[in-house]
Amino acid sequence: VQPPEKPLQAEEWNKLREDFQLPEIFEEVMLNSMIRCNSPIDVAKSLLTHVAKRNGDIAYNVLVKYLTLCVQQGQVSEILDVYDIMKVRFKILESGAYNLLVRGLSNSDQWRMALTILDEVKKIMIPSRTCYESCIKAASRHQEMKLACELYNEMLAKDVVPTLDVLQSFFDFSRGMKGAELQKELFGILLYLRENQIYPHKTFMRSIKLWFESLPGGNWRGHLTNIKDSGQCPVCNHQLEDSKLTEEEYSNLSERIIRDVIHGTDTFRKTSPKEFEAFQTFVENRLPFDIVIDGLNVAHIKSRRMQCENLFDAVNCLAKENARLLVLGRKHMLTNSANWKREIMKEMQNKADFFFAENISEDDAFLLYATLRSGKHCRFVTRDFLRDHKACLSDSLTRHLFRKWQRGHQIVLKKKSFPSVFSQQPAFRYDCVVQTTGDTWHIPYKDVFEEKYSYQVPRKWLCIQQKL
Ligand SMILES: [Zn+2]
Repeated sequence: VQPPEKPLQAEEWNKLREDFQLPEIFEEVMLNSMIRCNSPIDVAKSLLTHVAKRNGDIAYNVLVKYLTLCVQQGQVSEILDVYDIMKVRFKILESGAYNLLVRGLSNSDQWRMALTILDEVKKIMIPSRTCYESCIKAASRHQEMKLACELYNEMLAKDVVPTLDVLQSFFDFSRGMKGAELQKELFGILLYLRENQIYPHKTFMRSIKLWFESLPGGNWRGHLTNIKDSGQCPVCNHQLEDSKLTEEEYSNLSERIIRDVIHGTDTFRKTSPKEFEAFQTFVENRLPFDIVIDGLNVAHIKSRRMQCENLFDAVNCLAKENARLLVLGRKHMLTNSANWKREIMKEMQNKADFFFAENISEDDAFLLYATLRSGKHCRFVTRDFLRDHKACLSDSLTRHLFRKWQRGHQIVLKKKSFPSVFSQQPAFRYDCVVQTTGDTWHIPYKDVFEEKYSYQVPRKWLCIQQKL
């Protein structure tokens, strides 16, 4: 339906409604169309007035649609009116309506009202990321950085994960601002990137650089650079953190993860205890391996090739160095299908040990167990990122160690050059992660924006040093 251009009288709305195929959803369809066409607010309002007169009442979802239109057009006083109506009528709203209200108000001079609504939301649920981020940005825009930081910390405490966008906004809005407390908070954001192995993209990196350089009396200077293979920064000659874990770090990490894997308290375990036991016995009898391969994952690297051929190429390349390989497979690989040829499977089994799990099992637990039990030298191949192991990674030290181990031990097969020139991400001697010594910061960054985390570490760095 095409919304009218001017407000209508009751009779005119009635007429339109009667002509409509499904009169019972007429208002909803009409409002959706108004949202799409960004119709004038008084047209929508005349429809609502008509509905109220007819039914003595306006349904919740109709109000929310009207609210959407108001937010879309930044009609602040209407937003507040709708909120008043809804509050009285429904007491508690669902999160979609709260998101709208907060978003609409946070962009206006009534932004403090958005904070009031956020407080309301907190009483009944964990506010959404959108709610927090709208309020944080509103506070930042009005130079209330302390408030913005409080909201940010509160959000983290509730396990609401911030977007890169809101993290970047802190650096943009704090530019040139004084204050030791604020500086500490922004350093904290950089450490958050470190802990979660997040790499900023180019524009975010620029915001960080500009913020540092704007600090009054700070004498910070940033340069873009590539780190030498030795791990030395060509700009400031500083040596980056070593990528190797110490013996103690390694044993702490592997004990912690293996314990969680074996006791199965963690989501690592998606397999039956019996199958995992069989796997353990298998591994213990053949230790140690040099490389553990997630077979199914590697098999999908090039979709145009047969899956067993992909795996075959990977095994051949990795076997060259005389390495002891373990391939984690699935039982269906043994069925001699179009993707899995028996002869090729046979040949591979001469070059590597294979463990075939039930078709449904997820590999992470197997992969981690076999790699960690093999020792510090053992690496693993998967294109997955092992990101979801919350229980095990709940404390920040273990999380840091796990990510560091992952960076140093995960072999990444590059799709482009694979398999003709088999290439793997070089094992850097230095650790590719945000790092600081106090008067220097080194921040790896990516050329492109990726909200999704990637397993490939960037080669470009921002070097920031303070000239005292
Ligand atoms: Zn440097």
